[in-house]
Amino acid sequence: MTFDYDPQNIFARILRGEIPNRTVFENAHALAFEDIRPQAPVHVLVIPKGPYVSLDHFAAEAGVEEQAGFLAAVAEVCRLTGVAGGFRAIANTRQDGRQEVPHFHIHILGGRDLGPMLAHG
Ligand code: 5GP
Repeated sequence: MTFDYDPQNIFARILRGEIPNRTVFENAHALAFEDIRPQAPVHVLVIPKGPYVSLDHFAAEAGVEEQAGFLAAVAEVCRLTGVAGGFRAIANTRQDGRQEVPHFHIHILGGRDLGPMLAHG
């Protein structure tokens, strides 16, 4: 499978500093910031700094240090946001996953009971 990355997507523009964000954590390989339309008391997006469209793209093509840096950022977000009671990590992917922004991101949601994993219907 080949992956086409659009450098004009909104998260690429956030990474370039063209659009402001509310940063929660940043390291050499990842940026974490608050979702603009939060769906839970904690709703943070963690994105790699490299040009990857999706989780499967990132897993297939990112280097070991990029992958480790990204997961370290996820761990820091969990620690900083205090989701000790639990959380949900979601990576919506392509059409069936209803991905809106074509730059790989993981939603970290928490701060309340999140209900069943999927709505039916
Ligand atoms: P997706 O459906 O691609 O997994 O989710 C994209 C998420 O990005 C949505 O939850 C949406 O609210 C969030 N989002 C879209 N544009 C912006 C933006 O400009 N800033 C921030 N902080 N979040 C955004």
